[in-house]
Amino acid sequence: MNGKPVDNPPDQRTIVMKFGGTSVGTEPAMRQVMHILEQAQTTHPRLVVVVSALSGVTDILLESAFAAARGEPLVVKKAAHELLVRHLALADALVTDPALRRSAWWKVRRWIARFDDLCQAISACGSAEPEALDAVASLGERLSARLLSAALSSVGISSCAVDATRLIVTDSHFQAAVPDLPATTRRARHVLEPLLAQGCLPVATGFIAADAHGATTTLGRGGSDYTAAILGAALSADDVWIWTDVDGIMTADPRLVPEARTIPELTYTEAAELASFGAKVLHPKTVAPLVALGIGLRVCNTFNPSNPGTRLVTGQLSGEENAIRGVAVLHGLRWRPAYAAPLPVEALAVLPSLPPSAPASFPLDRSDWFTPDASSPPLFLPQDAAFEEEVALVTAVGAGVRRAAGRIFAALETRGIAVLAIASTTIGQNPSPASLSLVVRAGEAQAAARLIHFLIG
Ligand code: ADP
Ligand code: ASP
Ligand code: MG
Repeated sequence: MNGKPVDNPPDQRTIVMKFGGTSVGTEPAMRQVMHILEQAQTTHPRLVVVVSALSGVTDILLESAFAAARGEPLVVKKAAHELLVRHLALADALVTDPALRRSAWWKVRRWIARFDDLCQAISACGSAEPEALDAVASLGERLSARLLSAALSSVGISSCAVDATRLIVTDSHFQAAVPDLPATTRRARHVLEPLLAQGCLPVATGFIAADAHGATTTLGRGGSDYTAAILGAALSADDVWIWTDVDGIMTADPRLVPEARTIPELTYTEAAELASFGAKVLHPKTVAPLVALGIGLRVCNTFNPSNPGTRLVTGQLSGEENAIRGVAVLHGLRWRPAYAAPLPVEALAVLPSLPPSAPASFPLDRSDWFTPDASSPPLFLPQDAAFEEEVALVTAVGAGVRRAAGRIFAALETRGIAVLAIASTTIGQNPSPASLSLVVRAGEAQAAARLIHFLIG
């Protein structure tokens, strides 16, 4: 961690809690979130909540915008109906106070009318421009924040929904906007501090922000985690907790590797590596603002709150040198056939245990992943490579990947999994690789991840 850990005095202890799409996607899930917040309020007087859209809603919104551009109004109509029914049903179930419920209904209807208007405008243009896509995509979080806030108010927890368009200032790179942290700090404090001082629980929209002209932007898919980190940094919070649907950051995606288990402690670097290489549990940009300011990060399970989940820690963990900490898989890579420069032979020396038959290796420039148009990292391929099949990147993360490289190759070879290319990333000036990435055929990625997972101690 670059910054000294934040340690506000007890009455100023500040925490940001972010709840993902599954955590707010159904009535029982929302009730669970309300229960967690009710308890958290007793221990954390300065609490800020960040919410994602209900699970699946952002996908529906974006698909509808594209359908509108193709001139398919029926798709939009069906989506509007589905969104209305789902949000109204939640309002009915959770907002028990009649006045608050009427107000919630009204807000839901108003934002869905906005969805209709935006889709009509897209249809008239015949194309869905990034700015319009962000305006449409933002509606999911605007709806969920209002629902949760109304539900909390109706059980007597003073709360208000806050659109992060009022809190986070970004550039105008629609769909992957970059925050202006000093401007955001000023805005966020200006809006949130008076609410906290009044004992009101702010429920902020994840994912969305606004540029300097006030146009709605988004931080990229899965960006609500990043919202929580940005607001944590703006408020000099002690901690940011990411509440999701699994027990923290695990050794692999449990959907791919059933043997995956929770990693109780992980360094910020390792978490950032796993996230960058496909561990969807955390948006890759989340870690950076927190490390810089010494803010703690915990990832935990909404549906199993007594499990401590994962806590990020600074520095080296004991035994880390030998350890593979986790494995991640990235599908849907973009191809970049032109390869920058061959990796110098000396660079390969960082992986001494590679077999002589090791495939072509290539450097990964992670700085390039966050260009405005990049929703997934570009894959640099050697010039002579002619991979016609769909490929995936399987990445082992941990300081021990250097020593484990030979074992990883041997394990894959026993199952006949071909490694088409490799890459290793180093962090800053540290010459030892923080991860080792293997390009394999997409159909073999899961098997490769499971084999590497067996090597995790
Ligand atoms: P949320 O809606 O809460 O943001 P996401 O779906 O974005 O949740 O992320 C949680 C999901 O990330 C998990 O359900 C899991 O399938 C997936 N995942 C991928 N890699 C990992 C990992 N290493 N540890 C935990 N979960 C992972
Ligand atoms: N709702 C947004 C998405 O689905 C952001 C998020 O869930 O973090 O990408
Ligand atoms: Mg997520």
